Amino acid sequence: MERRKVKILYIAGCDRSGSTILDQILGQIPGWFNIGEASAIWDRGGLLNGVRAADSLCGCGSVFKDCAFWRRVFIEAFQVAPDRFDFTAAANLKNRCDRLRYLCLLLNSPARSLLRPSIDAYVDLTRKLYMSVKKISGAEILVDSSKQPSHAQILKLTGMADLFVVHLVRDPRGCAYSWQKSKPYLDPTVSALPTVHPARTSLDWVVQNTAIRTLWQSSERRYMVLRYEDLIACPEESMHRIMEFVAQPYLSIPFLSDHSVSLKRTHGVSGNPVRFDTGTVRLTLDDRWRAAMRPMDKLLVTALTGFTLSTYGYDFLNPL
Ligand SMILES: [Zn+2]
Repeated sequence: MERRKVKILYIAGCDRSGSTILDQILGQIPGWFNIGEASAIWDRGGLLNGVRAADSLCGCGSVFKDCAFWRRVFIEAFQVAPDRFDFTAAANLKNRCDRLRYLCLLLNSPARSLLRPSIDAYVDLTRKLYMSVKKISGAEILVDSSKQPSHAQILKLTGMADLFVVHLVRDPRGCAYSWQKSKPYLDPTVSALPTVHPARTSLDWVVQNTAIRTLWQSSERRYMVLRYEDLIACPEESMHRIMEFVAQPYLSIPFLSDHSVSLKRTHGVSGNPVRFDTGTVRLTLDDRWRAAMRPMDKLLVTALTGFTLSTYGYDFLNPL
């Protein structure tokens, strides 16, 4: 029974926390395959609806529906190529159950009936997708950087997931500052990512991180916390920790120095434009918020994230 399960390393956390670069590095390990933000295959959280998500770029540079890898995955999973697949219907299914607002219902067996039949159909869709990715990639471990706790719960419900959760946390002031900037998406279907007010980012940061921690912290062998700042400061050591966590032998990652890594193209979906970077990529801590963020915004984020912020060892008393 266990043998039929798919080993999945799930990167949970908030957007703008460095999940794409972590996903990309893990995808370089022999036998590991990074899907990217798997839940965004159907849509991009309102940024791109189902039809346009199929026209966005895969990490390999091809349009998703034309990517040879994803064509094989879809034909294996759904007996239809991506250009004939109904992405709108899949996106609608996702939006009816795979959202943070439905997490309580997803966790509670009797309450889950309120989401049926959408949840059954979406769980089935997810199961077929992952089984097919595993088969076509031939990988031992799939890396999914969807981040949402609801999607991790959907994976649990598939019954096929041997799930390990890496909770990636970044200083909320860094997240908030990043969301204050309009960011190019490097994708012809999206001109720029929208900006978000730091108050909204702060509340999302607290809710999302608290939900992930509450759900998983008692599962010691299935849950680890990794701070973005520690990942960038000690990338190789962080990879050691992750491989040990998923009980895999340590395999070489092409680190060229303490802070640069050689990346090959992957088929990761959605995420930061860093997913298109190949060759030597320098890992640099993005802490521009310390010098460039308005003091009032820093104070606002610090006040709103308060206790949760200090839980992860961030400086509560002296943010300026
Ligand atoms: Zn591709």
